[in-house]
This record gives sequence, C-alpha cells and structure tokens, in this order.
Amino acid sequence: MSTKFDVIVIGGGPGGYVAAIRAAQMGLKTACIEKWLDKENKPRLGGTCLNVGCIPSKALLDSSHKYHDAKEAYDVHGISVGKVTMDVGTMVDRKDKIVDQLTSGITGLFKANGVTSFEGMGKLLANKKVEFTAHDGTVTTLEAENIILATGSVPVNIPPAPRTGDIIVDNEGALDFREVPKRLGVIGAGVIGLELGSVWARLGSEVVVLEAQDQFLSLCDQDIAKEAGKIFKKQHLDIRVGARVTGSEVKKKGKKEEVEVTFLNAQGEEQKQTFDKLIVAVGRKPFTDGCLAADSGVKLDERGFVFVDEQCRTSVPGVFAIGDIVRGPMLAHKASEEGVMVADIIAGHKAQMNYDCIPSVIYTHPELAWVGKTEQELKAEGIKYKAGKFPFAASGRAMAANDTDGFVKILADEATDRILGCHIIGGHAADLIAQAVIAMEFGSTAEDIALTVFAHPTVSEAVHEAALAVDGHAIHIANRKKR
Ligand code: FAD
Ligand code: AMP
Repeated sequence: MSTKFDVIVIGGGPGGYVAAIRAAQMGLKTACIEKWLDKENKPRLGGTCLNVGCIPSKALLDSSHKYHDAKEAYDVHGISVGKVTMDVGTMVDRKDKIVDQLTSGITGLFKANGVTSFEGMGKLLANKKVEFTAHDGTVTTLEAENIILATGSVPVNIPPAPRTGDIIVDNEGALDFREVPKRLGVIGAGVIGLELGSVWARLGSEVVVLEAQDQFLSLCDQDIAKEAGKIFKKQHLDIRVGARVTGSEVKKKGKKEEVEVTFLNAQGEEQKQTFDKLIVAVGRKPFTDGCLAADSGVKLDERGFVFVDEQCRTSVPGVFAIGDIVRGPMLAHKASEEGVMVADIIAGHKAQMNYDCIPSVIYTHPELAWVGKTEQELKAEGIKYKAGKFPFAASGRAMAANDTDGFVKILADEATDRILGCHIIGGHAADLIAQAVIAMEFGSTAEDIALTVFAHPTVSEAVHEAALAVDGHAIHIANRKKR
C-alpha cells in the first residue's frame, strides 16, 4: 500500500470524513486514519456524530416522540390505539441499525471517491510525517504534503460523578439503556442533557436535571430559554438550576444498584437524591491524546484546543485542524464545513467560512433553533435593533397539526433592517432555521423575507410573519407599531 499522499486526515468523524471526500473530489491523493472500533471490534467511520452522537440520539428522540404521541396526542384526532407499549430493546436495536447503515455508507463513499482508509491510530510526527499503528499493532510511517487533524472530542468527566458501570454513564451509555429507569438523574442542562433527558422522560422515567448555572440555557436568547423552561416543566422534566453536584455514591439495593447524588441547591444547602441511573452530560473536551508527537510543533491553546487561525491553519505550515478539536461550537455541521474549507484551500482554491452564520439546534419537542445574535448579546454590544415575533398558536398549519407551542423571533438592525439573528422554539424549528441562515448568508433584510411569497398553509409562514412583525406589519396577530 502506498505511504505517500497529498493529504492525510487523522480522524474519520463528520469533520475528517467530509474533508477526505472533498480532498479526493479535488483530485488529491487522500488517506484517512480512523481508530474507532464498534462493540464487536469492527472498524467504524463516522466518529462521535454517527456512532454515539447526533444520529443515534435523534433515532431515540424520534422513537420516543412517536411513543409519546401515540399515548397522549392521538385522542384529539379521534384515533384510539388501545394500550400503547414500548419495547426498549427494539427501539435501541433500530437505532443501532441506522448507525450501522450510515457508518458503512461512509466506507462506501470512501471507496467511490478513492479515499484510502487506514484502520488504527494516527500520530502526527515532525516534518509532515504520520505514524500509523494498525489495530494489529503494525506500525508504518506515512507522509503527505498536507495533514488535517480531526480527532474530535470526548465527554468531560467530573470527579463528583465518575463513570461507573452502567449506572453512572455518559452520552454513550445513555443511548444503550435496555429498560426505562424509574428515576433518572441528569447532570447538566445543556444540549445533550436535555435531549437524552427528554428521551427517557417520554418513556416514563421521572427525570431530574441538575444544572450548576443559575440561568437556564444561558447561551440561548433568554426569550426562548424562558419559553422552553415553561414547556419542559409541563413535560415533567424537573430542571433545577443553581444545583451543583458535589458527590455521588453507588449503593446496593437488593439485587440492584442505585446512585445517591449529593448537590448544593441554589440556596447553597446540601441535598441528596437517589436515582436508578445517572447521566453525566457536563460538556465535551477536545481529544488530542496520543495524536501529537512531542516534536510535532502543533500548539494547543490554554483549554487544550488545537490553536488555529480563521482558516484552520495550525502553527505548523501544511498542518490544519478542524471540528471539535478547534475553537468554535462543537457541532457536526461546523466540523464538516471546516473540512470542506480546508480541502478547498489545500487544492489551491480561495475558501472561507462564515462563523457568524452557524445554526444551533436542541432536538427536544418543541425544538429550539437559532442563528446569529441573541437579544442579550445585541444589548451588551450596544447595537440598536428591532424585534419581530410570531407565535405558532396563530399559524393555521401549526393548529392543524396540533403543534402550537413556541414562536419565531427575528432581530434586525434598527437602521439597516439587516437580519442579525433568528430564534425559534417550535415544531420543525431545526428545519425552519435554515431559512434564516440562508437569508443571513445573503445579507438579507427583514423586508426581503417579508416580500417573499411563502406557501400556505405551512409552518414556514411563521418566519414570514415574524419578518413582517419586525416593522409591525404581521397580518395574523395584532402588532401595529406606533408611527
Ligand atoms: P468526532 O466526531 O469526535 O470524530 C473524531 C474521530 O477521530 C473519532 O472517530 C475518533 O475515533 C477519531 N480519532 C481520534 N484520535 C485519533 C487518532 N489519533 N487516530 C485515528 N483516529 C482518531 N452535533 C450536531 O451538529 N448536531 C447534533 O444533533 C448533535 N448531537 C449530538 C449528540 C450527542 C449525544 C453528542 C455526544 C454529540 C452531538 N453533536 C451534535 C456533536 C457532534 O457529534 C460533534 O460536534 C461532531 O461529531 C464533531 O466532529 P469531529 O469530526 O470534529 O469529531
Ligand atoms: P453543555 O456544555 O452544553 O453540554 O452543558 C453542560 C452543562 O453542565 C453546563 O451548563 C454546566 O453548567 C453543567 N455542569 C457542569 N458541571 C456541573 C456540576 N458539577 N453539577 C451540575 N451541572 C454541571
């Protein structure tokens, strides 16, 4: 097998595999090294996202949502389905099948595009050489004109709640419960904690989410965060802000085990609560263990991220880094777009990424999705803005679908009308936000959206109406602004 390449990518997640495919499409001789082994020790591409992240979590969110709807939301349509039951094993097996399908799909795409796959560990050496250790221990030295580091991230562990068997788990363990825990604790009310908490709450767990920060979803627009807090409460997600976990103890209870969690509540009082399972979802950290030789020359920043410029160049010429190991949001689409940008730069094209236009989504029900600035950021930066808001309760399509929680909010510059941010909570928010992302990429004003024809009846009309509301002209709500 060849050992010389134009591009070697270390890591085959959504950053690395996309970079490898794009580089090959550009006519570059490309290799990708990936170390992942599945439960049966079979090599797998796709990284965190496909194996234990975005895709499996969405598979469980969709299954649990259907179960919940069948139990609670069909009656109103006149549909009666009798006793609704959930076979958790079947749900988890379906999720595993989707993961199998998608990860082997990447293997197929590598073959189709002529990307050489190396199954094992990659380590960046000096002088653009890469040490490859195959799963059988064989070591080969590879070299390339350009190297892309895409080694991703791993869950943060906190000393008060170390991972313990299948009782104190991280996101990986939480995707594989074989029965519904009666009492489920979740540490961290971030994206992962809320999504996984929702899955098991829908299936009947009593879920308590312990969040150290005093403010719920502090990074979101606070209008959205407040609405989400109210809705999650109705869904019996018991979210306790200002609750810092300080300890945990796994105890025997008959033949079973349970975990007692100690935390300080918002008043600083020590509290204890016992759960059947505990999910630790306190964030993720960049993963560079074993991937950089001492003399590789690649610099890390103070938080352990690989230090890069706006175009993902590291401190070593010809070595790039993308995705979760570099600054910016830890999101699959951000990793992939950085992969495309870097492959294009290596191929000699001018390429750049607009970091101001990366959408974020939380896939609860309703979904939360946003892009651009929040109201609190605009206020802090002293930017004068106009806000237009439209509730799904006033959307005919949302009413027909019996899915009327939430709203769309568009923020536009007061002087230029240019869209600065869009914040959505509601059914299909993850898909609706793309409209605002495209508008912002094109530098649109709120009026541009207001003058666009939207199909009726669609939930998208809420985006149209929110844009109209920016100047007090929404049709289906009373929103006249004083002139
Ligand atoms: P990764 O996907 O982590 O891939 C890195 C790969 O590099 C891994 O496969 C690893 O095995 C490999 N590797 C590491 N070191 C080496 C080495 N030395 N040699 C060879 N291989 C190596 N993001 C979204 O955008 N949307 C979502 O809905 C979403 N949901 C999520 C849900 C959960 C539960 C989790 C945990 C994450 C979720 N994310 C989501 C985040 C998303 O998974 C990450 O942002 C994304 O996977 C980052 O891509 P990456 O390519 O940088 O890294
Ligand atoms: P995210 O980074 O979006 O996945 O969110 C992780 C959340 O976990 C953050 O909101 C943190 O405040 C929270 N967190 C971190 N450590 C603790 C702890 N010891 N107890 C409770 N919450 C925590």
